Amino acid sequence: MGRAILGRYGNVVVGVLESKDIVSEARRIHGTSPTATALLGRLLTGAALYSLVYRGTRPKLITFEMIMDGPAEHAVAQVKGTRVRGYVKNPEAHAKPVGGKLAVSSIVGKGVLRVIRDGYVSEVPIVSGEVGEDIAHFFYQSEQRRTAVGVGVLVGEYGEVLSAGGFILEVLPDATEEEIAEAEERIRGLSVSGFLKEKSVEDLFSHLTGGKGEVAEVLDYRYECWCSYEEVKRLVVMMREELTEEEKREGKVVARCMFCKREYLIELD
Ligand SMILES: [Zn+2]
Repeated sequence: MGRAILGRYGNVVVGVLESKDIVSEARRIHGTSPTATALLGRLLTGAALYSLVYRGTRPKLITFEMIMDGPAEHAVAQVKGTRVRGYVKNPEAHAKPVGGKLAVSSIVGKGVLRVIRDGYVSEVPIVSGEVGEDIAHFFYQSEQRRTAVGVGVLVGEYGEVLSAGGFILEVLPDATEEEIAEAEERIRGLSVSGFLKEKSVEDLFSHLTGGKGEVAEVLDYRYECWCSYEEVKRLVVMMREELTEEEKREGKVVARCMFCKREYLIELD
């Protein structure tokens, strides 16, 4: 379970999410390296936060996709309701930590962040490759919303997820200078994964709102795939040229869901 809280104080909207279980499940399914765990975990957390702070009716399906020239190559996070799923094309991609921190941007490189909401696509260039900044850049470029986004994953000695989570702070157009200064002060030097290792997501919300926040919504996100025979079959049909001659002759192929690795025996028409 990953608890999320949406609320505000004055003209600042605050969304927070604790995503340790979500990221741990992603790591268990995909066997990600520590750096890839951090990359995929940050993207999953960011996509869930984006859905949390969405204005109006939340889209039925949100997709965050990073197309990269670094070793990770491609990563996807999707949100449907409060269910989250994702994958990274090269889960073994790893880079040497820099200054004790996982070097996520080293496996990302350059590329684009693509966001798809119920078929509506927008895309921005990757600016830092650390994910949080890239999502904030997306908010600004694509939706003209001023946000600060922090997403973090703390990985232990054996690659296990010690803590994970994130926040979005959005300064509304009517925010005062004082409110903006307060918001900046509260996120200065804040390591969200470090914070959530010691404290709860409720504490994080309280910290970011100076204890004056009004809670609008509490949601529990979780890693859960919603694949079906039909979905996997559509993909197999799309990639028909990649099937072996034998598979084509037999009219049957064993295909795996990319998000949960469940196997399906697909019968071709
Ligand atoms: Zn699946």
